Amino acid sequence: MKFNLEEARRQDQEDSFKAIKHEFNMIENTIYMDGNSLGLFPKAAEENLLKVLQAYKSMGIDVWSKTNPPLFLYQDTLAELMAPIFGAKASEVTIHSNTTVNIYSLMATLYQPTETRKKILVDDLNFPTGRYTIESLLRTKGLNPEEVIMEVNSRDGQFLEEDAIIEMMTDEIAVIFLPAVLYRSGQLLDMKSLTQAAHEKGIIIGFDCSHSAGSVIHEFDHWDVDFAVWCTYKYLNSGPGANAALFLNEKHHHLPVGIQGWQGYKKDKQFDLLNHFDNVKDASGWQTGTQNILSMAPIEGALKLFHEHGMKNIREKSIRLTQYLIDLIEEVLSSYGFTIGTPKEPLRRGGHVALIHEEAIRINAALKDLGVLPDFRAPNVIRLAPVAFYVDYEDLYHTVRIIKLIMDEKIYEQYDNKRGTVA
Ligand SMILES: *Cc1c(COP(=O)(O)O)cnc(C)c1O
Repeated sequence: MKFNLEEARRQDQEDSFKAIKHEFNMIENTIYMDGNSLGLFPKAAEENLLKVLQAYKSMGIDVWSKTNPPLFLYQDTLAELMAPIFGAKASEVTIHSNTTVNIYSLMATLYQPTETRKKILVDDLNFPTGRYTIESLLRTKGLNPEEVIMEVNSRDGQFLEEDAIIEMMTDEIAVIFLPAVLYRSGQLLDMKSLTQAAHEKGIIIGFDCSHSAGSVIHEFDHWDVDFAVWCTYKYLNSGPGANAALFLNEKHHHLPVGIQGWQGYKKDKQFDLLNHFDNVKDASGWQTGTQNILSMAPIEGALKLFHEHGMKNIREKSIRLTQYLIDLIEEVLSSYGFTIGTPKEPLRRGGHVALIHEEAIRINAALKDLGVLPDFRAPNVIRLAPVAFYVDYEDLYHTVRIIKLIMDEKIYEQYDNKRGTVA
């Protein structure tokens, strides 16, 4: 019997990694289970944002050069903080724009089709923005997306099998672009073995790490991944629309940048404003226009928590929490028709648990009114993300207790069976 309040409290006391709710802006009377969509804001992120804002208010244009470090090179400051969390060199990471734009820019660099090798391999479960972006890039090259894009299909609509992906790695494929963690099921793909298999076939491979960044371990250099993109507002807690990050393996730094802009120019010459483009020969060469300083400042504060607590510890705690949640669901909720749409093997899942029920949409709405904030993904998934920083065992006990209450009392029947514009 794990479904027991005393037991949950005991686990909170004994766990080697304690939640640090006091370091976050928590929402009153709310168990926040939606950090996989939009993380809560750490006080350190807020403080850094205000610090940068204050610098600008007091010095105007001098903020670019007279702060310490100068904001003109802020992308490099943040890369130094970001890269080690991903097993990368700072020169291989830059903070820039949003994930969608970064996919375009890196694909434009790395997709160099030849007569025989011209396909791009994606999957049918990924968050669609990558697909949209790649299609638009292909059209500007005069190519037909339907002829270029190959799709690996999920066998069950929930998971992707690594062996099915590897089977599709033929000599026709130029680039592979896959999710690291699937946004719906929370499945974590084996980036290491997929990268190795792709390279054996001479294929370039990259990952959308938006759902794995800050929730799982990445070792980009050790695995020799070619490229990756991720956002910073989910598990990295940097606030809505905070700038995204990209990783480009240093072996590709000599290639033409995908979207040339003056902010990618060699720093000592940028203000010479020359017509001939000459970019920095590292990931920061993929910068485009003026940095979004106020959307970057929170990242500096938010990343400090990852350095203080260690990605390995955060990941291990996250696994213990998702396991506890899965155990409670199996023990308490399976008799109400709930199933788990997340891999049972800890090493095959990211930071959230997908709870499946045919009444998911109405149960989700009821949960929000009863103080638990999850999110819903059509047609039947409630995503629950126990973020190690600010969700504890007791929160998970209450989450399951409230779902049980919603079922026992049929509270969900009071809700409409339709979702809002922002699900
Ligand atoms: C959240 C998410 C994005 C978001 O892209 P934006 O350009 O930041 O809106 C992209 N891809 C995946 C897999 C995501 O989960």
